[in-house]
Amino acid sequence: MQIQIFKFGGASINSADRIKNVTGILTSYAHSPLLVVVSALGKTTNALETVLENFLQQDPIALIESFIKVRDAHFEIMEALFSDKRHPVYGQVDSLFNQLRGYIRKGHLYSNGITDRDFEYDQIVSFGELFSTAIVHHYLVEQGIPCRFFDARDLIKTDTSYRDARVDWTLTGESIRNNIKGYFQGNLQAGSIALTQGFIGSDANGNTTTLGREGSDFSAAIFAWSLQVKEMTIWKDVPGVMNADPKLMGDAVTLETLSYREAIELAYYGASVIHPKTIKPLENANIILRVRSFLDPHLPGTTIQNIREWLISTPIYILKSNQVLISVTSRDFSFILEENLSEIFRILSSFRVKVNIMHNSAISFSFCVDNDPHKILSLISYLQKDYETRYNQGLELYTIRHYNDDAVNRVTWGKKVLMELRSRNTWQVVLG
Ligand code: ASP
Ligand code: MG
Repeated sequence: MQIQIFKFGGASINSADRIKNVTGILTSYAHSPLLVVVSALGKTTNALETVLENFLQQDPIALIESFIKVRDAHFEIMEALFSDKRHPVYGQVDSLFNQLRGYIRKGHLYSNGITDRDFEYDQIVSFGELFSTAIVHHYLVEQGIPCRFFDARDLIKTDTSYRDARVDWTLTGESIRNNIKGYFQGNLQAGSIALTQGFIGSDANGNTTTLGREGSDFSAAIFAWSLQVKEMTIWKDVPGVMNADPKLMGDAVTLETLSYREAIELAYYGASVIHPKTIKPLENANIILRVRSFLDPHLPGTTIQNIREWLISTPIYILKSNQVLISVTSRDFSFILEENLSEIFRILSSFRVKVNIMHNSAISFSFCVDNDPHKILSLISYLQKDYETRYNQGLELYTIRHYNDDAVNRVTWGKKVLMELRSRNTWQVVLG
């Protein structure tokens, strides 16, 4: 039994028409058992982050407004998909919204100001995937496609690092194999679909956890690894992995094939096409990853697999915008590398901040990070206690893999270069 794994992100299901489009793609693959991993509809996760913010700020009016906005967006799509107002999808989605409403009402319990932001994030923001899969599930069944709904929280088991939960691979592998293989074995008729959520899991106490923004790709890879499938497909709104963002560079091209190694480097440097944690489980089980377009399913897309270092002659451009460059200097002239770096990294890891590029001199250390407003200002004031700390916001970090002079000039032209690093394959620059 060869199980196929498909992942559909928010953009692929952001309207009734797009949900119908996905249903069309699924129908054309209906001959084999298919596990389908789905994210929240469109930009729901961002909208739920606003709900969370209003919940934490204890702003009841903004809270209810932001809640209603999410609810209305879902009901609008449901009304375009299910004309019969008595269809069970309405009751089910309504009851999920009631659960969320009940949860955010308990805000008054936090009048003492003590909250665990990350815990609350996971309890609230995870609803996006529950809403979307309820709708897609009912729609597939309505279209006569045999489909069973699985709650990913029963399958993906994690620790309690809320918002960035670590997977318990042994428990997760077992529960996925028991549930999903069992379902397909009992349903060997053509076209069986197992539908589940990306992004979410649960801890040992049964609390919902999430795997980090854009984590649905990673969820799909967890399923792929657990089931030891041959290949997995991520369906995107681009023709495949491209050598640049086509919105920024009109001459961007699709890369036909990539090694796991190249793909993990690209994801690491910020290519938004694949979540960085996705590649490792796939590489470990030698699973081919295809990135294909849900807008044009006839295109071959990009294949990521176990090939020897592919000779890439096209430069690959990756832009990370909204960067902050932070420089810390020891006040007592002690050497940064030997005497302070491990402490600085301890601080960075306690703030869960990831360094995108770094450089040191004798007594100072400079590094670039994503400007996450909740973390960065408190990180800076923490660092200021022990170090002279300066920072510069609103910067761009460009990475070019397989760079050449033309590529470098193209990116830096007319910009102020604040930091630059080159290795054999990779060139990085921070631009002001
Ligand atoms: N819905 C989540 C997000 O937008 C997870 C995902 O889409 O992969 O981050
Ligand atoms: Mg998404």
